[in-house]
Amino acid sequence: MPRTSVVTGAASGIGKATKELLEQRGERVIGVDLHDAEVIADLSSADGREALVDAVRKVSGGTIDAIYAVAGLALAAPATVAVNFFGTVASVAGLRPLLKESESPRAVVVSSMAALMASDDELVALLAAGDEQAALARAEVLAKEPATTGGLIYASTKLALSRWVRRQAATEAWAGAGIPLNAVAPGVIATPMTADLIDTEQERESLLQVVPMPLNGIAEPIVVARLLAWLNSVENTHLCGQIVYVDGGSDVVLRGDSVW
Ligand code: NAD
Repeated sequence: MPRTSVVTGAASGIGKATKELLEQRGERVIGVDLHDAEVIADLSSADGREALVDAVRKVSGGTIDAIYAVAGLALAAPATVAVNFFGTVASVAGLRPLLKESESPRAVVVSSMAALMASDDELVALLAAGDEQAALARAEVLAKEPATTGGLIYASTKLALSRWVRRQAATEAWAGAGIPLNAVAPGVIATPMTADLIDTEQERESLLQVVPMPLNGIAEPIVVARLLAWLNSVENTHLCGQIVYVDGGSDVVLRGDSVW
């Protein structure tokens, strides 16, 4: 039986590359996105998140083998909080019961090396507390200054998401149920999300000053897709709660030997 995987954000960038890779490898993929996908769902709203789970249950017949939570936004706006943190958590938590009958259930989310950048403590705390209303209100305040505090929103959502994975992975719901739960943290990837930031050589150079990528520079989405596919493969039996940086070395440059 081919594996059945659910990929959110499947219409573009990393999610699209992941869907295509898995299909080339013979898997059945249920893509989820706002458009151009088997399941159309808006992960920024509670209704959309519920619709995602209902639709995947119907389309899959009730059992899936792997969840790839890739959908995300990089806007200096509250919507980034709704999709990157609450939409991602709702996707993996909401779809988890459908993994129950799988012989090799797996889940992975896409965080970012931006989790290492400056973030807003208050927003990160509200995300950790799961208080969506208050987190959206805090993001609204931060978004008022797009060039300064607005920039903290994206990093805050990714930091909170990486921590969520660390806190959940070893619990009964995940490790206890035989489900590896992990994250990837990409550096700069050439997708529609970053297109405006890496249009010219000068823009690429100034972005790489902030996100140093000494190993091979800016990457194509297939690079991340291959790692995601391995993390959710049958071969991965023991990786638990890891944030795997696929970033050309930015984590190494920025954090050095402070990680062990
Ligand atoms: P992208 O913009 O190409 O794709 C993101 C997809 O998510 C789009 O198809 C979009 O429609 C979907 N999406 C957005 N809001 C949604 C919603 N409310 N409901 C359902 N789907 C929604 O971007 P990408 O670069 O492929 O990003 C994928 C993931 O990788 C994101 O989580 C992003 O934060 C992360 N990431 C990207 C980079 C990068 O450099 N591109 C680096 C680190 C992390």
